[in-house]
Amino acid sequence: MSSLVITRIGQIVSGAIEQPLLAGDTVVVRAGRIAAIGHYADLDTRGIDRVIDAAGCQLWPGLIDSHTHPVTGDYTPRQQMVGFIESGLHGGVTRIISAGEVHLPGRPKDAAGTKALAIVGAKASAVFRPSGVKILAGSLILEHGLVEADFAELWREGVRVVGEIGLSGIYRPEDARPMVEWARACGMTVMMHIGGASIPGSSVLGAREALAILPDIASHTNGGPTAAPIADIERIILESEMMIELVQAGNTQRAGAIARMASRYNALHRVIIGTDTPSGTGVIPLGVLRTMAWVASLGEVAPALAVAMASGNTARLYKLDEGVVRVGNAADLLLVDAPIGSEAHDALATLAIGDTPAVAAVIIDGVVRVNVSRNTPGSVRKVRIPWSV
Ligand SMILES: [Zn+2]
Repeated sequence: MSSLVITRIGQIVSGAIEQPLLAGDTVVVRAGRIAAIGHYADLDTRGIDRVIDAAGCQLWPGLIDSHTHPVTGDYTPRQQMVGFIESGLHGGVTRIISAGEVHLPGRPKDAAGTKALAIVGAKASAVFRPSGVKILAGSLILEHGLVEADFAELWREGVRVVGEIGLSGIYRPEDARPMVEWARACGMTVMMHIGGASIPGSSVLGAREALAILPDIASHTNGGPTAAPIADIERIILESEMMIELVQAGNTQRAGAIARMASRYNALHRVIIGTDTPSGTGVIPLGVLRTMAWVASLGEVAPALAVAMASGNTARLYKLDEGVVRVGNAADLLLVDAPIGSEAHDALATLAIGDTPAVAAVIIDGVVRVNVSRNTPGSVRKVRIPWSV
């Protein structure tokens, strides 16, 4: 079931920023993992009877949304909507990462409560896979009263991420910095809200706070939704090694400006792409694709590098065995193309002109989960998958 061959690929886009394009027209998947990449005539496809004809579509890694706010299941209380994760799958997203489950109605704001929320989120998301989509959640929301031993306990119980600093009671550098050190000592990845306050009760945070707190990720540097001064982002790029996140639910103009700035300072390997949804801005199933199009068109970044920002860059940070088309990695893959009617002739060219590519198929762990997206426009080239999905 999870072994297949994808042939007649127009272009293989790796998701690895150091080598974004790969030679070949075929990818072989065995037992859910990428087994071989190259030209069909050179590859061993014995024993695999499921063959997908990509018909010239491009193959990309499955997209990773680096910034989401799930709560439980495939339901968001913020927009009272069911099925947003599955809808995002139709926009090419095969993994979402929680920036904190802050929309839980009645979210506890004490140490025991916030620990419990993180542990439940981590354990549930490790098991729950809506339509196959992978979820990294249980992202700890820092609150007063947490002590060093709590972080070791949380790590043992599966918590891997500290959600956005700035959405809770802990946001002053003197409060946050020790907790960040405790979290990092365990191996956790730390996010921090950058920019104007997102909702009543959250904080305004800029370069001064980020450079004092030193998270791993400067979240939504183009605003979530209100952008910080551009000079603050320049300082973060120049004076730290933080990942620089760009999101859909932010400032469009700044997404382009920050992408150009990251190019200028040779920091494209640090840029990651997310949606910052569900949020007050809504649910945007094509949000990662649209942000990639902003980065490529307004930010004048090579489109294959924009793909890496929404896959391999994030996978590297979280040490995920996906997000890059590489032998041995999980076979989380997309077949994509120019949408019907676009001036562009293929999926990368579509990003370059600011259109949203068409998702023709989505594969997770070698299993076809989407055969023709219901959310993107139709593709010019028609993928043939000769079994029912
Ligand atoms: Zn935020």
